[in-house]
Amino acid sequence: MNNYLNSEQWFETIKHKDYLYVIRERLDEIDPRFYTTYTNLYLVIGTHSALLIDTGCGLFPLKPIIKDLIGGKELFVINTHSHFDHIGGNYEFDKILIHKKERRLISKPRDISFLRDSSKEVIKRFESKNYILPPAKIIQPVIDNEIIDLGKISIKVFHTPGHSPGCISLLTNKNELFTGDTAHYGMMYLTKKTFPIILSSISKLIDLYKKSENIELYPSHEEFTVGKELLVDLSKGIKNIDNIWDTKIRDDFLEAWIIEDEIFKYAIF
Ligand SMILES: [Zn+2]
Repeated sequence: MNNYLNSEQWFETIKHKDYLYVIRERLDEIDPRFYTTYTNLYLVIGTHSALLIDTGCGLFPLKPIIKDLIGGKELFVINTHSHFDHIGGNYEFDKILIHKKERRLISKPRDISFLRDSSKEVIKRFESKNYILPPAKIIQPVIDNEIIDLGKISIKVFHTPGHSPGCISLLTNKNELFTGDTAHYGMMYLTKKTFPIILSSISKLIDLYKKSENIELYPSHEEFTVGKELLVDLSKGIKNIDNIWDTKIRDDFLEAWIIEDEIFKYAIF
């Protein structure tokens, strides 16, 4: 069994480019019942400011790690959406940006007591907090097409709903596209009635390749720096779910149907 004692042991920090860090958290070490190994947080550093994309589960302090990486630069923090694995460290930071459709969801304490019976030892760190994630202090809503300027690097917000109503993806002027939970390998969490919505969000991301074929994808879970085929295959996969619906298996923890094709797993609510 792994014994995690502090933030340095818990978070894996990877310098991916001069201006881009990946900070990984093991979601399966929090609770394997999500069938997800990694959550990827990203830190993009411009000449005068930096942007932290998501704050993880809140199990270990994240802010000291970020402070070390950005020095005295101004820090913006944005949530790709409001699910617990992306917002847990929000309370550590002064202000959180999030799509306006999910601002209310991060303004209140979040009950994560569904993790209480996880098989993982490290989850006991939440016991002293009674399995409650504190809310964000100040929330600033963002909208589609908004641009965040970090100095030399700018980041454009794209509203890509489907996984949740306020999911966003973020594109830098250097062609990194952070897809949040709208597109990643591994287990995709979807609602059957929002299939048309996520399919149109995925098309919106595929359309970005009309301006540049050099876009690299950085999803919020599992592998990062993946290619356009993620979007193309995921779109095909979601369209095919009805055809393989008979193969679904009930998952009592997730209260969802699990279904699998050659590339993806899906938890369907
Ligand atoms: Zn997630």
